Amino acid sequence: MAQGPVIQLDASALQALFAGASMGATTNQPEEKKDDSAEFKISDGERARMQRMCGLPENCGDESFPKWYRDIFAKNQDDKDKSLIIANAIGKSFIFEDTEVPLYLSLLNMILKRDWTGQDVGKRAALAHVAKGLSPFAMVDLSEDDVACMQQEADDLRSATTITASDLKAARKNVAAKVPEDADGLMQMIKRFANLLYTLFSSQCPMYQQLYGIVKGLRDHSPNARTQLGRKAKASMLWIILLQARRFAQGKMEGNDGCLGEFANLRNLITAKNCGTLDHSEVPSELATTATPAPKSPEKRTRGAATEVTTYTDSPPKKPKAGTGRVVEPFNEDVKTLLEQPRKGAGYPRFTAMCEFCGITEKNLVTGLTNKDCRQFFLTGSCMYDETCRLHHRKVTTAQVKEIETKLARFISERRGIKGKK
Ligand SMILES: [Zn+2]
Repeated sequence: MAQGPVIQLDASALQALFAGASMGATTNQPEEKKDDSAEFKISDGERARMQRMCGLPENCGDESFPKWYRDIFAKNQDDKDKSLIIANAIGKSFIFEDTEVPLYLSLLNMILKRDWTGQDVGKRAALAHVAKGLSPFAMVDLSEDDVACMQQEADDLRSATTITASDLKAARKNVAAKVPEDADGLMQMIKRFANLLYTLFSSQCPMYQQLYGIVKGLRDHSPNARTQLGRKAKASMLWIILLQARRFAQGKMEGNDGCLGEFANLRNLITAKNCGTLDHSEVPSELATTATPAPKSPEKRTRGAATEVTTYTDSPPKKPKAGTGRVVEPFNEDVKTLLEQPRKGAGYPRFTAMCEFCGITEKNLVTGLTNKDCRQFFLTGSCMYDETCRLHHRKVTTAQVKEIETKLARFISERRGIKGKK
């Protein structure tokens, strides 16, 4: 199991999620008609691309393709069934055992639709799509809080009387692309990406083999050398891996010029233990500089008011919807101070479990919070959707901190009790 707050959704947890939230079964997928007896029916183009991505010989039979891939084309399956096939495959197979691929809905959906390039079609990668498709930036740390975020969304969708297409789209928002703060985080991202490729395309996958080499190479560096990697170098490394992954995803990673110049250079620099100087000129400055954009003003801000979209997620500056007025307030650290230690001690349980332990429901935890407010942000200051979250990010008031302290008193004082109860 993963240590600390990073956790893994297993297939049964996903099943529970899907029970409430449709994966968008309404979208049409003309290439997946279910009336054919062939083992799987895909276009010649997709087949050829998949064959190259898996490192298979050109005239290989259907049985050579990975099992999950064959399975998702089996008859009479909806998107939910297919997602579970993928989730099971990812949960089972990995090469670097100390880290796991983060399973989240938009990643599963990407695999389901085989949107490997994440909508990048040209030679360059677009900042807006950085965490989409097969990308090292999609290999985020998925915390208990993030999972709870997904759960809240699934709950909201379930309880909504009408679900519109845009609700579903919002629920599948991509996670924010981040460059890890430390060398360990960087290694984790690369290893997770290698695990994902290994799972999806097997050990003969050329991109997996390259990443395996990178991990091996970086492991040879002294811990000191790794910690000295600056933000720009880390961002450049991930960016170059992304560019190569895009080439791979287009089925173009083959033969002697399968690797981009910058990627070959990256491999050389790693071998030469000289990564500190890495500086790819196309790395978006948003990735190379600040980590998380800090709120600009402690005052209440309203989204859509033309100014402040500072994140670099998949949210291109859209036309603000009239009347949405999303509230974004700074996080109140007091609530974190109050709960951090007890939560850590109990292994980051879900808020529902903490409330249950104290004999209340999550809805009763604080007065004044509606289902338009993001509970995760409210209580933890973090939300996997960051500024693309469609719920309000509100600040806990001093009175509400007191209220939480009173209502969760039992959890706060007997923090380990909740674990024993499980
Ligand atoms: Zn949120």
